Amino acid sequence: GHVENFSDPLVDCKKCKTRFREDHLEGLWEEKGISDGSCPECGGELTEARQFNLMFTTHMGPVADSGSLIYLRPETAQGIFVNFKNVVDTGRVKVPFGIAQVGKAFRNEITTKNFIFRTCEFEQMEMQYFVRPDGADEAFEEWKARRMAWYVERLGIKKERLRFHQHGPDELAHYARDAYDIEYQYPFGWQELEGIHSRTDFDLKRHGEYCGKEINYLDPADNSRYIPWVVETSSGLTRSVLVTLMDAYHEETIGEDKNGRPDVRTVLHFHPDIAPDYDTMKDNTVTLRFRDSMEQVRVPIASLAERMRKEIREYKRN
Ligand SMILES: [Zn+2]
Repeated sequence: GHVENFSDPLVDCKKCKTRFREDHLEGLWEEKGISDGSCPECGGELTEARQFNLMFTTHMGPVADSGSLIYLRPETAQGIFVNFKNVVDTGRVKVPFGIAQVGKAFRNEITTKNFIFRTCEFEQMEMQYFVRPDGADEAFEEWKARRMAWYVERLGIKKERLRFHQHGPDELAHYARDAYDIEYQYPFGWQELEGIHSRTDFDLKRHGEYCGKEINYLDPADNSRYIPWVVETSSGLTRSVLVTLMDAYHEETIGEDKNGRPDVRTVLHFHPDIAPDYDTMKDNTVTLRFRDSMEQVRVPIASLAERMRKEIREYKRN
């Protein structure tokens, strides 16, 4: 499906050859006060929109024939659907459950800009949460609330700079039941940070069609058999880092400079969970917290790296 659909409509300028995403043109025209639909850069004539696939292609093996053509994944989700049955058969999980993955994704973006907001190689965090079809709407509301809370309560992002944007009929994928973006107010405007999607049984059904064996689930609760529905949360790890940094920047006035003007300095005010604390200032120590035991120890910053290497080396899975 990605080879057919993972694409953006693009237009080219016939004169200066600059390439634009069609959905970005409206904004650029408005910005530059252009009303005749011409090139925002040079005023030249634009071509009709053409589909431009966002996937990177390469070849596997020493011979670059068409048989060895492969694609770098444009998102991490597909591996989760492929492994659904393995996880059910070996993980002793019962619906509802989720499979989450963090990893690299690659997109052949034509406009990479705004620092690490849009890059060709980035880090994604995706989760597919599998539910009974009649529980999909409830799970969707639950994950909307939990993901928003993650940004506000865990990362300490300011509430007023976050909002939900519901996809309209023109933005919604044909199989999607409902979709919301969590948007952040970046210095360059409100843009997506994470997507929460109610995807029905589309992906598992399609995977079943192509591998020739329907993928379904026998629910031990009532012995019913169904294809689980999916609530997906898809977030940019790279973007979360960007947002955490941007949100922490503050300007503070610290008196006056020698000309009597306010002396303003820029400081980073991180959320207390992320930032060094008051003891750090006194004795140069930080807290090291162990995930499994929740035990906390104070460690001098100077020996932090060494201590972490030791703990990782000696770590034993329970
Ligand atoms: Zn042009």
